[in-house]
Amino acid sequence: MDRARLRQLLARESAEAERQNPRSRTAYESADHLFGRVPMTWMNKTAGAFPRYLATARGARVTDVDGHEYIDFCLGDTGAMAGHSPEAVAEAVQLRFGELGGATAMLPTEDAEWVGAELTRRFGLTRWSFSLTATDANRWAIRLARAVTGRSKILVNSYCYHGSVDESLIVVGSDGHGTARPGNVGAPCDVTLTSRVAEFNDLEQLERELSHGDVAAVLMEPALTNIGIVLPEPGYLEGVRELTRRHGTLLINDETHTFSAGPGGCTAAWELEPDMLTIGKAIGGGIPVGAYGLSAELAETLLDREDLDLVDMGGVGGTLAGNALSIAATRATLEHVLTAEAFTRMDGLSQRFEAGVLAAVERWNLPWSVSRLGARTEYRFANPAPRNGTESAAASDAELEDYLHLYLANRGLLLTPFHNMALMCPATVDKDVDTHTELFDAALAELAG
Ligand code: PMP
Repeated sequence: MDRARLRQLLARESAEAERQNPRSRTAYESADHLFGRVPMTWMNKTAGAFPRYLATARGARVTDVDGHEYIDFCLGDTGAMAGHSPEAVAEAVQLRFGELGGATAMLPTEDAEWVGAELTRRFGLTRWSFSLTATDANRWAIRLARAVTGRSKILVNSYCYHGSVDESLIVVGSDGHGTARPGNVGAPCDVTLTSRVAEFNDLEQLERELSHGDVAAVLMEPALTNIGIVLPEPGYLEGVRELTRRHGTLLINDETHTFSAGPGGCTAAWELEPDMLTIGKAIGGGIPVGAYGLSAELAETLLDREDLDLVDMGGVGGTLAGNALSIAATRATLEHVLTAEAFTRMDGLSQRFEAGVLAAVERWNLPWSVSRLGARTEYRFANPAPRNGTESAAASDAELEDYLHLYLANRGLLLTPFHNMALMCPATVDKDVDTHTELFDAALAELAG
């Protein structure tokens, strides 16, 4: 790769982004009352000097305040995998919030049982509880796992992401042992006191860590999706299940992103048998919600424990969790939008996307790889595809990523920041995918000179 040329192109695209977006730039530069100038500090993770400001969004389209329209393959990093404001969800939200009223009344609604039954049908776990984020679903699942096993530690994969869960901010260090993930903000204690870590696809390391007998639960994505997509090798997930059972450790599948694999995520697609399952983002169709599921036996064991306060101040729950609005939106999303038929279509679009990227990568003879998980496709600057989080982290290239993101955004197409990821929604069409293929190929042609 000609780095000088890449830098030149990146500078050109940055200047073009500034030229195209005066109103976003002004909004950003005048946001003196926001921490980091944005409503959430990670919105500063944008290729270019400032984020584009949202005006409207519907289906697979987003418009910004400078009047540009984008094909959106970011989809709120999965929060909008149902498409932006799908009609059925908009109607359910309007009905609940407008006509009926009572978004958050500390009272259950009948829809919740419908959602619980549907999540059971899709994922297999038989008892469900709700949060407002996937992060909280993970936090509460972790607490329950500790309570039921009496063990203190949680094991995760190196370079995983499960939200801002303290226990998950650990990586495998150069000595092969757990160490704090760089950049951790205000850790409550040394993470090795609460956590263990193993590389994805490494059963030997997992067994070594589990053999200490102090791991309450393994919290994992069936495929890593937050450091590129890293797919499980044959036998790995079966090995994880066998080892966790053998060592008395619970297995929690976080399906927040891997839900892209199908209507029941990887758990259904690959016939996995976790003890608990967590999910968030997409199931609310854009309205905040998270959920965790557990087996009936586990639920009964926990409910029978008189020493555990599951009703009041015991540390599991939130005032707005399970609120009527989130639940209504989740029902509408699962019943009408993210249906089995929608997943079949999204998978086809994703295959088309993958083929387009692969053809361009081959044409320009680049040592890159593409991984796909149902409706989600991601490319990495390494070939063969990285086998674990550490390898995948080593394959990142910020300049190259920024160039590609800016090139595409300047021409009306959004990828997910933090990723080279494209997600399909029910409103995505073939032509959107083909537009990406053409632009991606053109971006590589410029790189090649
Ligand atoms: N789990 C996984 C696998 C995720 O990818 C994310 C967010 N990217 C989360 C949990 C946390 O979701 P949230 O930020 O909505 O709590």
